[in-house]
Amino acid sequence: MTSVEVRAGARVYTALIRSGLLETIGSTIGKTLRGPRCAIITDTNVAPRFGNQVKQSLSTAGFEPTLITIPAGEKTKTFEQAGNTCNRMIAAGLDRQSFVIGLGGGVVGDLSGFVAAIFERGIPHVQIPTTLLAMVDSSIGGKTGVNTIAGKNLIGAFHHPSLVIDDVDVLKTLPRREFNQGFAEMVKHAIIADAAMFAGLKENVARASGLRTGTDASGTLALQSLIRRNIEIKSRIVAKDELDRSGERASLNFGHTVGHAIERAVDYAEFLHGEAVSLGIVAACAISMKKAGLPKGQQEAIVELLRAFDLPTRLPPNFPREKIFDALPFDKKFEGGKIRFVVTSAIGSAHLSSDVTKEDIREAVNEL
Ligand code: NAD
Repeated sequence: MTSVEVRAGARVYTALIRSGLLETIGSTIGKTLRGPRCAIITDTNVAPRFGNQVKQSLSTAGFEPTLITIPAGEKTKTFEQAGNTCNRMIAAGLDRQSFVIGLGGGVVGDLSGFVAAIFERGIPHVQIPTTLLAMVDSSIGGKTGVNTIAGKNLIGAFHHPSLVIDDVDVLKTLPRREFNQGFAEMVKHAIIADAAMFAGLKENVARASGLRTGTDASGTLALQSLIRRNIEIKSRIVAKDELDRSGERASLNFGHTVGHAIERAVDYAEFLHGEAVSLGIVAACAISMKKAGLPKGQQEAIVELLRAFDLPTRLPPNFPREKIFDALPFDKKFEGGKIRFVVTSAIGSAHLSSDVTKEDIREAVNEL
């Protein structure tokens, strides 16, 4: 069994990474939580694939699960949806002894975590991520929340999961585009913290499809080890700055300032989150060359790696670029008009710069 101990303040929780974990999910959760009532929050794409299996396994282990299915997609991550879900949990008799399971991608993970944080002033949360992006990123770190019309993730709470269960088999049904976007966050982790993984990711490009389908056992093992390494990187950074106050955790926002603005510019319609982050990484690299001395050769290697995973590195010519700038001030990283922008001087490291101007960002976006 591959597992990682994730530290969060005084608490420690485990992330399990292996194939076949869903088969015994009830007894696995039973080692950490009692319940007996629990809500499995999932979405309309994931429910028909894994909903009943998880529910059945929990029932067999003595739990009383309620399956709550919400519409798939970013637009479901709202305060209203969180409220409706809480009401359904009350109607199903959940109480302070109950817990919440998020079975799905980052959208379900963020929303179910937020529900767990506010229901009865906080009950335990189990993350069962079913996308690569959620496994390597959103399920770790305790950030939960919903979007508002003013921006992404503006309402939320820090609420760490009690357990994270990554069954790599679930990735077999993930569409290729969704699978590839998970690599954007891995490339980000490599850039900000792990030059050796950057080189390793390059080697894995050719095997990416085999990793997804798990057609060969070594592909599955390679994927497990990549997931593990990314969880270790993220949890190490989070442990230094649990509540995102000291600036350490800000390095995880590399590529996200522009990435979020791109998502908002087209109302989350054109790009997946990881794809927008890929474009944001390209912009952050251009700014890093100008303001932090990132060597051109390294910038080129980053762009090449993103392309190798079929991630976008250029905006379509007709993309409404102006809307990206309109979207920038709404981003949480603009505090009191001051821009905190994450740059890299060399692959494997990142720091916050207060040297970056809106003009620098404009230039980088125009080059995209
Ligand atoms: P998502 O949850 O929308 O999942 C992507 C799509 O794949 C959805 O349509 C979903 O129904 C489908 N899907 C999920 N698992 C599947 C499977 N196994 N087989 C087939 N289809 C499946 O999106 P995502 O990319 O996983 O996550 C993006 C979200 O994560 C964004 O809301 C972003 O803000 C959030 N996020 C949060 C953090 C954090 O720290 N909390 C970090 C990064 C991203």
